[in-house]
Amino acid sequence: MSRPWMRTVLTALALALAVSGAGVAQAEQARDVTAAANPATWSPPSNLVTPLNQVWSHQESTYGDLYGFRNYGWDQVFANGGYLNFCVRWDSSAPVSASLRDRIHAKLAEQYKKWTDLMVGHNNWPYAQVPIKVVGWAVRDRATLQWSDNSVDVYVDNIRENAPQCAEQCGRFFVRDGQYRNCPGGVPRHYDQSLWLTAGMGGGAGGDWGQRIGSEYFVNNLGSPTVHILLHEIGHTFGLDDFYDWTPSGVGGFLMKAGSATTITEFDAWMFRDWWRHLKSRYGR
Ligand SMILES: [Zn+2]
Repeated sequence: MSRPWMRTVLTALALALAVSGAGVAQAEQARDVTAAANPATWSPPSNLVTPLNQVWSHQESTYGDLYGFRNYGWDQVFANGGYLNFCVRWDSSAPVSASLRDRIHAKLAEQYKKWTDLMVGHNNWPYAQVPIKVVGWAVRDRATLQWSDNSVDVYVDNIRENAPQCAEQCGRFFVRDGQYRNCPGGVPRHYDQSLWLTAGMGGGAGGDWGQRIGSEYFVNNLGSPTVHILLHEIGHTFGLDDFYDWTPSGVGGFLMKAGSATTITEFDAWMFRDWWRHLKSRYGR
């Protein structure tokens, strides 16, 4: 499929550098990324205007269907009226307790909030929060999941891309009418994205279908305030590009330039808001 912004399958090398590179964190400036947001207008710091325009022009010239594509994270949030549902694809044989299940959900929601909070009160964004709910887990063997409650739907041995997945009839990637008539739980149990956790994986991938990162990496970072590969991949879900072969003028390390930052910088925040600026008319905002 011609969605150049999804060309994110292998960021392993650059992100591995970010994981292990002691110099990376030093390049990162701790900034209050929400401070500069004006409630009503497009108001980036003046030094970011030129690089932001360069980024948007680059995306216009390299994305195959930038304005026609209708499944960005933005579209998904609006289709639901302000929330996102997830399936966890547990691509691992490691056991998962109910406690671990809940910690994975909590960390996913916490990391997602780092992005969506950037929009609160900004440029006619309508949502005070974007709740993240995990509605399903997909696994090869039911015995891997060590809970018996029915708080999430469990899908066993439904394999696609050599990995467990939740039912396609419940997934927005597969069903785009918003009705989910063939999903047993209907709209409340549909999922917009998958958090695909793969044993032994370094790096990550992201797109309209969700985010894929290493299962050990994620579990080992449940105590970390930032899970930077996940944050980077969520950026892709909302359209943000990679920067493997060029750097905008006058900006240093930032999250979407893999290996150069480990958290959302002010420039990342304004790239995110720039997507909203350019797409918001489709939601009547
Ligand atoms: Zn990437």
